[in-house]
Amino acid sequence: MSGSLYPCIIGGEKIVSADGKVFKDINPADTGDIVAEFPLLSRQDAVRAIDVAREAQAKWAVTPVPERGRILVKAAQILEGEADELARLLTREEGKTLAESRAEVARAVSIFRFYGVMGYRLRGEFTPSAEPNTHIFTLREPLGVVSIITPWNFPIAIPSWKIAPALICGNAVVFKPASYTPLIAYRIVDALQRSGLPPGILNFITGPGSTVGSELISSPKIDAISFTGSLEVGEEIKRAAGARNIRIQLELGGKNPAVVLDDADIDRAVEMVVRGAFGLTGQACTATSRAIVLDSIAGEFEKKLVERVKRIKVGNGLVEGVEMGPVVGEKEMNKILDYIQVGVNEGAKLLLGGKRLTGPEHSKGYFVEPTIFTDVNPDMRIAQEEIFGPVLAIMRAHSFDEAIELANKIEYGLSASIFTRSLPRAFEFINRVQAGVVKINKPTTGLEPHVPFGGYKKSSFGMMREQGETALDFYTKIKTVYLGY
Ligand code: NDP
Repeated sequence: MSGSLYPCIIGGEKIVSADGKVFKDINPADTGDIVAEFPLLSRQDAVRAIDVAREAQAKWAVTPVPERGRILVKAAQILEGEADELARLLTREEGKTLAESRAEVARAVSIFRFYGVMGYRLRGEFTPSAEPNTHIFTLREPLGVVSIITPWNFPIAIPSWKIAPALICGNAVVFKPASYTPLIAYRIVDALQRSGLPPGILNFITGPGSTVGSELISSPKIDAISFTGSLEVGEEIKRAAGARNIRIQLELGGKNPAVVLDDADIDRAVEMVVRGAFGLTGQACTATSRAIVLDSIAGEFEKKLVERVKRIKVGNGLVEGVEMGPVVGEKEMNKILDYIQVGVNEGAKLLLGGKRLTGPEHSKGYFVEPTIFTDVNPDMRIAQEEIFGPVLAIMRAHSFDEAIELANKIEYGLSASIFTRSLPRAFEFINRVQAGVVKINKPTTGLEPHVPFGGYKKSSFGMMREQGETALDFYTKIKTVYLGY
C-alpha cells in the first residue's frame, strides 16, 4: 500500500521541500505498508521556520493566558474525538499494540487538558517586602522560540508534553518529530490549528536530524531546546547550547532496575516485570532492563517469569490478542540482535528467546523474541548499556544492601522499582536508590502527566523536570517586581 504525501507547516502554510524530495513512513509490522510520505526539508527550511516563529511569538506572548488555554482544551477535545483512529495510526506507524496506542493517545488528551487548565493558573508569587509601602511580586514571561525535537517511541505523548506547556507559557515552537513517526506528530499540529492556534506559533518540519534537527540546536535565534532521544545527540545539544548559554532540557536513556525482595508477592512481581520489560517491546526509556532478585527466591522468580513470557503473543499490534509488537526499524532490530550476541559472548546464560522471528506472521516485519538473560554480571555490557528492546538481564543479589548497590551501579538513573511487602524496606529503597522516578510494587514504566518526570545522572540534563506544573518553570523566565506606593 502506498501512503499519501503530507505537508510540513510553517507560518500556518502547508509546504513541501523545494526539490520535491520525500521520505517514506513505513509500518514496522508490515514493511509493504507505506503509511505516509513526508517532505525531506532542508536546513534553509528550518531557518525559515525559526524566523517565522520569532515574528509570530510577540503577539502570542500578549494573548491572554486563558485564551491560550482554551485552544489547548479544544485540541484535547479534537484528539479525544479522533482517539480510536489515532490509536490505529500510531500502531501502524510505530508498531506498539493497539491497547498501548490507546493508552498513549489518552495520555496526550490529558496532557492538553491539564496545560489548558493551567491557563488559569500560570501564577507568580506575591510576597511581603522589608520596605514600607512596597509590594513584591513575580511574573512569568515566555522564553521566545523553543526547539522541540522528539523520538519515535512515544510519538504522540512526548511531543504533547513538550508542546502544550511551551504554548501555554506564550512561546512559539519549531517542532521536529522523529523520521519514523511523522504522521501522528502531524495530527497533533493539525488538531491545534483546527483549535484556532494562530499561524507561526507551532511550526512543523520533517527531515533528517543531521540537517533539519541540527539547525534547531545550533541556530542563534533559538531561546531554548527540549529534546528526548539518544545520549549522543544529547551531548551535541549540550555543546551547542552551552556555547550560547540557552536553556535546555534533555531526556536521555535509562537502564532501569526492578528489585525483587524475598518478601515480595512473586506472582505480582513477575507480572510487573513482564509489563516493564516487554510492554512497548522494551522501547521505553523507563523500560525494565535489569531484574535484581534476591538469591533465595531467584529460582522461583525465573521459573514463573519464563512460563509467563513464553505465553506473550508477538505480532502485528493491530491484531487482537497480540501482547508485543515489532521493534521500530531494521537498524534498531539489528542493534538489539547484536546486543544479544554480546550477552552470549560475555558469558551470560540465555534463558529464553534471542532470535529474530521469521514465521508467516512475522516475515514482513521487524520482530524479535522476548529475551531473558540470567547469571548476568553487573559489569557486562548488557547490564550497563541501553539496549532499547525486549531484552531483560537478571542479576542475583545476596542481600537487600547488595541489591540497592547493584541498582545504583550504573551511569543512568531514570526509573527504578522494588517489589516487597515491607514498608521500611520500601522507604529505605526510596531514600537510597538513585533514580528520578521510584515505583513500589509497580512497573518501572507508566507515568502520569500531572507530576514531574526526569532522571538522575546521565538520564537527564537540565535543572527543570518535564510534565506537571514543574514544566512551566522550564518554559518561562521569572521577573521580580518591586512596587512602591
Ligand atoms: P536520536 O537521538 O538519533 O533521535 C531522536 C530525535 O533527534 C529524532 O527526532 C531525530 O531525528 C533527532 N536527531 C537525530 N540526530 C540529530 C542531530 N544531529 N541534531 C538534532 N536532532 C537530531 O535517537 P534514535 O531515535 O536514533 O534512537 C537511538 C537510541 O537513543 C535508542 O536506541 C535509545 O537507546 C535512545 N533513545 C532514547 C529515548 C528516550 O526516551 N530517552 C527515545 C528514543 C531513543 P531523525 O528521526 O530524523 O533521525
